[in-house]
Amino acid sequence: MSDRPDVPRSHGRLAIRPSLQPRELGGPPTLKGAWQARVVTLFPEAFPGTLGLSLTGKALDMGLWALETIDLRSFGEGKHRNVDDNPAGGGAGMVLRADIVARALDAAAVGTPPERPRWPVVYLSPRGRPFSQAMARDWAQAEGLTLLCGRFEGVDQRVLDAYAVEEVSLGDFVLTGGEIAAQALIDATVRLIPRVLGNHVSTEEESFSEGLLEFPQYTRPTVWQDRAIPEILLSGHHANISRWRRAEAERLTKERRPDLWRAYLAAQGRDPDEDREL
Ligand code: SAH
Repeated sequence: MSDRPDVPRSHGRLAIRPSLQPRELGGPPTLKGAWQARVVTLFPEAFPGTLGLSLTGKALDMGLWALETIDLRSFGEGKHRNVDDNPAGGGAGMVLRADIVARALDAAAVGTPPERPRWPVVYLSPRGRPFSQAMARDWAQAEGLTLLCGRFEGVDQRVLDAYAVEEVSLGDFVLTGGEIAAQALIDATVRLIPRVLGNHVSTEEESFSEGLLEFPQYTRPTVWQDRAIPEILLSGHHANISRWRRAEAERLTKERRPDLWRAYLAAQGRDPDEDREL
């Protein structure tokens, strides 16, 4: 890891440096235009974590996307590189300082477009907009993404306001830090980048792609513990299989997620209030 606060750490073979430092001679070529995630964190060692495995890891090695961590600690003050202080107004815990976080965000912004749709800047926070497949789709279309991971009680509000930072939540629960949430968001986004999944997985038929949950999946053995795979799936009749899958997706969505089901009906111009089972 670098001791220099302005040099983010790269993961993956072809990772791109925002530091504008010339690359070492003989290093791998920079893959121009590859989607980039930049993560501001007190725990850079948590990355790439699960993102280094399987399809996302392979894609990282191939340079289909790049990951940089920016070590918040290196922007801290004094001998101990302090990054936090007591909450104004009192109370338990510590708050990450606006000035320190701002320096890290400045380093993360080097070489990125200032327009937020082209490069969203996001603070992981239970107070944020709930993350969704639609957001992952938007972000995959952007050039990259900067994620700020909080710790302790969170981040001084002023830096979030001053830097037009969007707050995004992984769900209605509280984690000790933003790192796990950041990995989840990056994973969901990176798998939508062309060529990352290859032929392994289809993103067109999976949950949320059309506003429905996915139909049940089966594989061999054909009979397991007296349970058979639904006969229609073995019929080879593609039209019937598609119809069955859609009916199952609709049934599951209606049962489990009435909120999604209503939105699905509305999107099709059907009136959810006419569905008496809801
Ligand atoms: N005091 C805060 C919680 C702080 S938890 C509150 O009540 O809202 C510490 C850090 O973990 C946060 O700064 C955030 O970055 C991260 N975090 C916790 N829960 C999260 C969630 N549901 N989604 C995204 N990030 C979360």
